[in-house]
Amino acid sequence: MVLPARIPIPDEVIAIARRLEEAGHEAWCVGGAVRDSLLGGEQKDFDLATSATPEQVQRLFKRTVAVGVKYGTVGVFDGDRVLHEVTTFRHDVRTDGRHAEVAFGVSLDEDLARRDFTVNAIAFHPLRGEWKDPFGGAEDLGRRRLRAVGDPAARFREDYLRVLRALRFAARLDFIIDPPTWEAACAAAAGLGQLSAERVRDEWTKGLATTRSLRRLISLWRKSGAAAVWLPQLRSDEELEAWTGDDAPARRDPVVLTALCCHDPVAVLGRLRVSNSDLARAAALVTGPPAPAGMTSRDVRRWLAAVDGAADDLAELWQLRHAAPFPWAAEVAAIRGAGAPLRRGDLAITGQDLMAAGIPAGPAVGQVLERLLALVVDEPTLNVHEALLERAKELA
Ligand code: ATP
Ligand code: MG
Repeated sequence: MVLPARIPIPDEVIAIARRLEEAGHEAWCVGGAVRDSLLGGEQKDFDLATSATPEQVQRLFKRTVAVGVKYGTVGVFDGDRVLHEVTTFRHDVRTDGRHAEVAFGVSLDEDLARRDFTVNAIAFHPLRGEWKDPFGGAEDLGRRRLRAVGDPAARFREDYLRVLRALRFAARLDFIIDPPTWEAACAAAAGLGQLSAERVRDEWTKGLATTRSLRRLISLWRKSGAAAVWLPQLRSDEELEAWTGDDAPARRDPVVLTALCCHDPVAVLGRLRVSNSDLARAAALVTGPPAPAGMTSRDVRRWLAAVDGAADDLAELWQLRHAAPFPWAAEVAAIRGAGAPLRRGDLAITGQDLMAAGIPAGPAVGQVLERLLALVVDEPTLNVHEALLERAKELA
């Protein structure tokens, strides 16, 4: 690819760069936004790389936040209170596959040399319209190829997360991975066990959110060996061949998609240390039932009452599995619109009422309420206080 004379840079970013340059520092646009704007489409979130130290950046701008000052990153607010990341040129002085110790006071070229892939190591000077592309990133963009900066094996050993980043970028950009980079990534996959669950989770989630094709992402995770380390429950190629569902769903929920792609999503997501609420959602997806037992309104009410909060997740999973709209969607909406009783709290009678009517406090109260709920789920018109009280007396 021939680099264009300019890429469109938002005025706010230019203003920040100008202030840095006027104070005698260098300021360059770098990273994903430069890459993505070369691939087409305007970008807003340009990261800036600068020769100014974090302290100098903090002094130059009125409103800043210390995003990661240890690593050289200061967030600078523009006039519209949008945050822009400004990071001091840095290089890695020590790496152990998981963390890096960084040093400042280096040149832009050295800063670009520590970046992971050539397409992520292109810099654009927003004031002078000048390009720095020391590793041939533009050519790789043109060939739709992901290639490590420098010796791929060494770069993956410095930070194993780069293996997962390679899979993510290849799947999202629909790029091939350059063979030496791919071989090194496969060889490094065994080291992925050293990564923290949180970093792996973020990569998996971002991968699911941005991949053009779910199948490609999954196949890259498996073929590289990354899945064997972190997602042994990933479905097999044969299963995925058999799956005819939507390969590029509009909604990208990590819990639902993990349940789609993996056996035992609870084990997968637990190991990836997702939040307890996401873990509960995964468990509810496994518990199901996956859909109502039949097409009647009563079937749908029974299902909604049984799955409670998981109905929408289950409907989404069903759609993905079947590559078809959820056949019960209209009925679900009608039932919700009518406010049909589906939970204990919807009953026209409470445990207090039952005890007042002479049912002894204790498990019997809960059992009677459950049975009343089953009755009104099947027949919502029965949800009337007096009628339920009568039934309760019969049941107790
Ligand atoms: P995205 O669109 O996902 O934000 P990105 O390329 O901007 O893609 P970031 O994680 O935001 O990715 O990182 C910004 C830049 O920092 C990258 O383009 C790359 O140059 C560099 N970088 C980030 N993580 C690493 C890493 N683990 N090793 C080397 N360089 C990295
Ligand atoms: Mg980014």
